Amino acid sequence: MKTKPEIKVLLYHAVSEDREFPSPAGTNLPPKEFERQVSFLSRHYSVVRLGGGAEGGGRPPLAITFDDGYRDNFQAAYPVLMRYDLPVTFFLTVSRVGRDWDFPGGNYPGLTWEEVREMDRHPLVDFGSHGLTHRLLTGLTEEEADREIAGSKAILERELGRKVDFFSYTHGSYNDRTRELVRKAGYRAAYSVIAGGEDEFSRRRILISRRDNLFRLRIKLSPLYWPLRKII
Ligand SMILES: [Zn+2]
Repeated sequence: MKTKPEIKVLLYHAVSEDREFPSPAGTNLPPKEFERQVSFLSRHYSVVRLGGGAEGGGRPPLAITFDDGYRDNFQAAYPVLMRYDLPVTFFLTVSRVGRDWDFPGGNYPGLTWEEVREMDRHPLVDFGSHGLTHRLLTGLTEEEADREIAGSKAILERELGRKVDFFSYTHGSYNDRTRELVRKAGYRAAYSVIAGGEDEFSRRRILISRRDNLFRLRIKLSPLYWPLRKII
């Protein structure tokens, strides 16, 4: 299969203040910082839909994604992105929709189906699957992994009433078997975090976490980021 050239894809998780986000992963960005980044991206990049072409009018193309499906995506990220007219893809952990996430530091609300459907009505918003239960796919039996991959797709498509084309790997982790299951389930592409870049089913993304202010975002977007990643 011929693969399209890879465009830069950013990965966000939560848009909330540090003190409000209980996950030890620290994958939140404060709302003010998020807006600063969105404003920067809107001026310097051509933000395209995931899987979209590289039509940039001279500016480099880039896509914005979110993993997990926290309620703050609806409350804090969606309004900002829509104000700037930027497309976005939210990858949902399908069995957590309508429920709290249970972190060691406390609970954190997930999106509800009502919020998902409201955002889905917007032409710039897409949804993908981040599996069913947020378990590491590489540690599961083939049957369990397929339930996460194909099962979550079926539920999401039923709830949204349309096709779901993209998958993102929990913790960015995949192997040849999971990649094949994703392909067989009918997805067009799948996204990892750092690893990957080999084909449509192992696309890399640039993870943005709480330490990533505008200065660090610009470093991560530079052509030197992948080669230098290990030391920054
Ligand atoms: Zn995740």
